[in-house]
Amino acid sequence: MLRDLVYLFFPKYCAACDNALFKNERILCTSCRHELPLGNFHNVNAKKIEKVFYGRVNIENATALFLFQKGSLVQNLIHNLKYRGREEIGNELGKWLGNEISQNIDYQLIDVVIPVPLHQKRLRERGYNQVEQFGIEISKKLNADYVDSVLKKKSYNNKQSKRGKLTRWKNTAETFGTQNESLLENKHILIVDDIITTGATIEACVRALQTIPGIKISVASMAITE
Ligand SMILES: [Zn+2]
Repeated sequence: MLRDLVYLFFPKYCAACDNALFKNERILCTSCRHELPLGNFHNVNAKKIEKVFYGRVNIENATALFLFQKGSLVQNLIHNLKYRGREEIGNELGKWLGNEISQNIDYQLIDVVIPVPLHQKRLRERGYNQVEQFGIEISKKLNADYVDSVLKKKSYNNKQSKRGKLTRWKNTAETFGTQNESLLENKHILIVDDIITTGATIEACVRALQTIPGIKISVASMAITE
């Protein structure tokens, strides 16, 4: 009774299409659950996403839950997660992708899940790292550890987008550092991020981590641009 009243006055909205949810729906409406474009990279399209990193850095496996297009439901979903305080979207997407990849041999051997870090300043502004819950849920599904104390973002530069492509690349590459590296020695790690576009952020993370002895690196993101 009380729950029904609460629902009446505070309806919950679908994280992708913003329509009101029915009582039996959670985070995403039934229609969006069926319509969101799955990447399915860990099953059939693996080479497609790994190609993004060919000749740049060594990646064992890479996958993304959704395909990303401008103006799409996926864009709105990630916008709600990053800018409208809906951190629970990360949990939902982490459970979804975690369930899928836990059935794939390539991902069953992951030891540690680590998030692409936010700079402290950005973290204070947003209040949370939007990939944290995503990574935690994936680590649970894979029986892996979740470690956010090794990879750190070193500099904060909000003028980045005004610079040329080459400069921006170098700039990104210089912004990640590591500490407590022994936590990741001889581990197969899974870096998690929200959207892969050029792959430059992941590349910078891999460059910072690849000097750790015996490390193997795979990647999982919420979405990848087509
Ligand atoms: Zn919806």
